Amino acid sequence: MRVEPVTVRSLPLEIFHQPAGLLEALGDGPPSRHRAGEIPDASRCQSVPRCPGTRRKLHTIAWLELDDPELGLSPAYAALGGIPIWAALDCAVSRQPLAWQRTGIAAYALIQPSTLEPFDDDPTEVARGVLAFRDADPFPAPDAPLHRLGGEPVWVTEERIIACPACREAMSFLLQLDTDEDLGWRFGDQGALFAFVCARCTVVATLIQEP
Ligand SMILES: [Zn+2]
Repeated sequence: MRVEPVTVRSLPLEIFHQPAGLLEALGDGPPSRHRAGEIPDASRCQSVPRCPGTRRKLHTIAWLELDDPELGLSPAYAALGGIPIWAALDCAVSRQPLAWQRTGIAAYALIQPSTLEPFDDDPTEVARGVLAFRDADPFPAPDAPLHRLGGEPVWVTEERIIACPACREAMSFLLQLDTDEDLGWRFGDQGALFAFVCARCTVVATLIQEP
C-alpha cells in the first residue's frame, strides 16, 4: 500500500507564538489548538518518553493538531490528529533521527535511537505558548528564520531520506522549525529541527541539523 505524501501548501510559514489566549484576545481568528513547548492537555499524552542519553524527559517542542483545516493536510495525515514534536535538545541522540510511535490512546514509545551521547550544556527550556501558522512574507529578510510546513525540507547540511523504523519506507516531511530567538527556539548552534511522519505506522521522527 502506498501512503499518499503530505500535500500541504509548501510555503514558508510565519509562526506566531503567544501566551495562551492572547491571539484570541487580539481577535486574530479562532483560538489555535497548536502549542509550543507543551502538550495542551495531560489526557493527550500519558507520559513523555525519556532521552536514552540523558535519561531526562524529551523536550516538547510543539504539539500539532494535524486535522486543523488551516494546515491543509491530506486525509491520511489529518487522521493522525494531535501529535507531539519532541527532541532531545541537549543530546546527540537528536542529531540522528529520533522516532516514536503511538502505541495506544495517548501513549507513545521511542523506537531504536542509535546515538547516546549527552551534551554538557544545560537542558534547554522551550517557551510555552500557542502556535498559529500563517503564510510567510514572500520577501523575507535574508537572515529571517525559515519555518516550513509540508513540501520539501530546506536542509541545513546534507539531504537525508528518513526511513520509518517500523516499516522502512521513506517518511513524509511534515515540518521544519528554525532557530528563532523571537520564538525562543534554539536547535544546537543556529540549527533547525525537521519533523517527519509515517501515517501508516503512526510514527513521528525528528532530526536536528546544525551548520
Ligand atoms: Zn512506517
